[in-house]
Amino acid sequence: MHSVNTAEFTITDTQHISSDIHGIKDHQISPGCLRTIARLQEAGYTSYLVGGAVRDLLLDRIPKDFDVATSATPDQVRRVFRRCRLIGRRFRLAHVYDGAETIEVATFRGSGDSDIHSEHEHLMENGRIVRDNVFGSEHEDAVRRDFTANALFYDPGKHLLIDHVGGYADLKERRLSLIGDAETRYREDPVRMLRAIRFASSRSLRLAEETRQPIRELAQLLAQVPPARLFDEVCKLMLSGHAYKATRKLAKYSLFKQLFPDVSVTLTADGSLQASPMLVQALRNTDQRVRDELPVTPGFLFAVLLWEPLQQRMAELTQTGMNAMEAMTQASDELLFVQSRSVALPRRFGAMCREIWMMQHRFRHRKGKRAVRLLEEIRFRAAFDFLKLRAVEDPRMVEPAEWWEHLQTLGIERQREELGLPANAKINQPDRTGKKPRRRKRGRGKPGSQPSSGGG
Ligand code: ATP
Ligand code: MG
Repeated sequence: MHSVNTAEFTITDTQHISSDIHGIKDHQISPGCLRTIARLQEAGYTSYLVGGAVRDLLLDRIPKDFDVATSATPDQVRRVFRRCRLIGRRFRLAHVYDGAETIEVATFRGSGDSDIHSEHEHLMENGRIVRDNVFGSEHEDAVRRDFTANALFYDPGKHLLIDHVGGYADLKERRLSLIGDAETRYREDPVRMLRAIRFASSRSLRLAEETRQPIRELAQLLAQVPPARLFDEVCKLMLSGHAYKATRKLAKYSLFKQLFPDVSVTLTADGSLQASPMLVQALRNTDQRVRDELPVTPGFLFAVLLWEPLQQRMAELTQTGMNAMEAMTQASDELLFVQSRSVALPRRFGAMCREIWMMQHRFRHRKGKRAVRLLEEIRFRAAFDFLKLRAVEDPRMVEPAEWWEHLQTLGIERQREELGLPANAKINQPDRTGKKPRRRKRGRGKPGSQPSSGGG
């Protein structure tokens, strides 16, 4: 037990919590991770299970992946394992391969003391200091993490939970607390505000008062974060089964408008979400699809988010004499451009938004080649799901949505009849079985990389 003083805060005790109290069982940890930790310890290095996995085990959830932190440098890690690769440029991580598993092994690092201006520091144009990660002690590694719940270490050999920051008590109280001075930590990395919302939503944790309080005022710091990084974060917020809750919290803390400046989402006096009925339904559908293990894609969600502003902009443009198609093309370009300055949607998802929007007017055609071509589109299902969502707020869309829904339930012969086609006409409908293919590899999929359709 020891006491540590840092510039901003004091941590009185490092606690070692035994298994009769924490209750973590080895069989809950992947075998490859257990072997990796054991081998490093046999080689004389301190090594632990860390981060999200420890948090989730204590919350009785099955961890997504098992990360290891160690006192061994990447080169030392490489010498311990035959199947191992070093990755990353700025901060090197080791990937240890065990059977089909990949275990990420990171050397303990410090955040760089704020008093020490080292050669590892870079000043960005906007004045924020970005330090290269530097190796550090076990304790430094704990305190440079974001939330106390994410900073716990678990030693499977000794069955001990090691808590440098009071994370165990916080988790037991279902509380999410930033380590150190909250404002300082948000300024260092504004994405932590989004992570706070994400963990609060997905793990049903309460934000500690000091963690909650500064967010509203600091929300605009998100403007300094690279839009591509915000896209990754938005995917994690919106496509993990808690989109509705997360959106409500984002709105509550003034974060939503930083991410989606054109989209109107507010809260009612009683704290429920006030947004277009279509958007509310889409968020609920997305959460349900995740629970049902159906594919979800950011392309669809962005198409829904931007639909209302798209309609507004189109109305303005048609007033100036543009026809509907031109207006849609120009309005889409403008909106996607403006959106990409806050949250950058990768090109393929932008293209998907456009396709979904452009296909909407084609649902008018119910006979002949035009109708068949629509039905044959790769994105037909997404566009149709979108049409159904429009019917939530526009009664004129109800009948067409039902007609197209019915059409899809028919066998090919009846479809030909409905579409007024000759008996031998071909209709090639893409495979739309819907179920997510099982992921082969354990590990970190790029967010939003799931295949196909939408949130209908
Ligand atoms: P998830 O289940 O979403 O993967 P996670 O806690 O594992 O949750 P990661 O983004 O995988 O989240 O990060 C792993 C760990 O790295 C976190 O648990 C935390 O300790 C640390 N970490 C991640 N992002 C930050 C950050 N922005 N600031 C400080 N520490 C961070
Ligand atoms: Mg993780």
